[in-house]
Amino acid sequence: MERLINPRLKEIQISGIRKIANKVAAYPDAISLTIGQPDFPTPEHIMRAAEKAIAEQKTTYTANAGLLELRQAISAFVAGKYGQQYSAAEEIIVTAGASQALDITLRTILQEGCEVILPGPIYPGYEPLVRLCGGTPVYVDTTGNGFKLTASLLEPHLTERTRAVVLCYPSNPTGRVMSPDELQEMAELLSDKNIFVISDEIYSELIYDAPHRSIATYPGMRDKTIVINGLSKSHSMTGWRIGYTLAPAYVSQHMIKAHQYNVTCASSISQYAALEAMTHGVDDAAAMKAEYVKRRDYVYDRLVGMGFELTKPEGAFYLFPSIKRFGIPSMEFATRLLEEHRVAVVPGDAFSVYGEGYIRISYAYAMDVLERGLDRLEAFVKVLT
Ligand code: PLP
Repeated sequence: MERLINPRLKEIQISGIRKIANKVAAYPDAISLTIGQPDFPTPEHIMRAAEKAIAEQKTTYTANAGLLELRQAISAFVAGKYGQQYSAAEEIIVTAGASQALDITLRTILQEGCEVILPGPIYPGYEPLVRLCGGTPVYVDTTGNGFKLTASLLEPHLTERTRAVVLCYPSNPTGRVMSPDELQEMAELLSDKNIFVISDEIYSELIYDAPHRSIATYPGMRDKTIVINGLSKSHSMTGWRIGYTLAPAYVSQHMIKAHQYNVTCASSISQYAALEAMTHGVDDAAAMKAEYVKRRDYVYDRLVGMGFELTKPEGAFYLFPSIKRFGIPSMEFATRLLEEHRVAVVPGDAFSVYGEGYIRISYAYAMDVLERGLDRLEAFVKVLT
């Protein structure tokens, strides 16, 4: 029977992040710097809203696209914060996390043979979904360009089969952010082309030194951009599974079908929690952000002090130092660091071939954990050099 399993699914490998997480389980004394989720509790007022929703038995299906009040709150949130204008009734879908938002997006726009541009190194969640849709991921090497996809880097990779370009900024795994000029140039390149942009803005509330800007707000881009966002990172709500899409009505009206037959609607209780977050917790990320800045600066300085080459991230909560000078593959580096010094980091090759030669360190951990983890990393660096 095994041979009857969908071959596309059989070919999909478990992610490199999961592989290292599985190894960590064997070392209970290890310090893990691998996780891509905030270490802060979900804000108290959001928890109370969920409790109230349960007490009031708000436990039925909602509209497929999500509670209208929640979509209205999201519409106001993104308009107020990022200047994104979307109709609650027709252009916003509440999903089960950004992950499901990506799934319905790709299933809506891809057909057999379509190419999707992925600037590598990149979050590993896109490629499997592209492949399941019969599409081909086309990776663009951004390592020589500060890990940013720019118009000039992208242009030679566009073909008549290119259906979409994924922009994931602030970036997982590098924390880089596209500047207004880079977004402008990208918009100038793409605005007259029949190519979608999937703009994954899940870290939009975690940009440190500048306001978040979305490619969707640049001239000619709103109609071809599908924005992915959610509350996982902004409100420390990874387990609540609330994401959303912002897409022009002509796309959303088809995305809603993929969504409907996939999950019917996101969890009603979580949607009430999200409604509280989007109305009374609009700036909940600010306090977390202040803490992340301190951690970023601390970890960055420590890594520089150890002789690592790296760019200072402008957002998200990851650093992506080069390990090229040690001359060993990233998986070996991560495995030895774990086995010999009990610190877990994610090998860069988990983020496509262009991540080889790097490691990802998450600073979504308390300061004392970071300190101890970096002390151990420093001891390992001394052994290697
Ligand atoms: N997109 C990026 C870039 C991510 O880093 C993540 C999670 O780490 C997701 C999407 C998925 O987010 P969610 O937990 O809301 O599904």
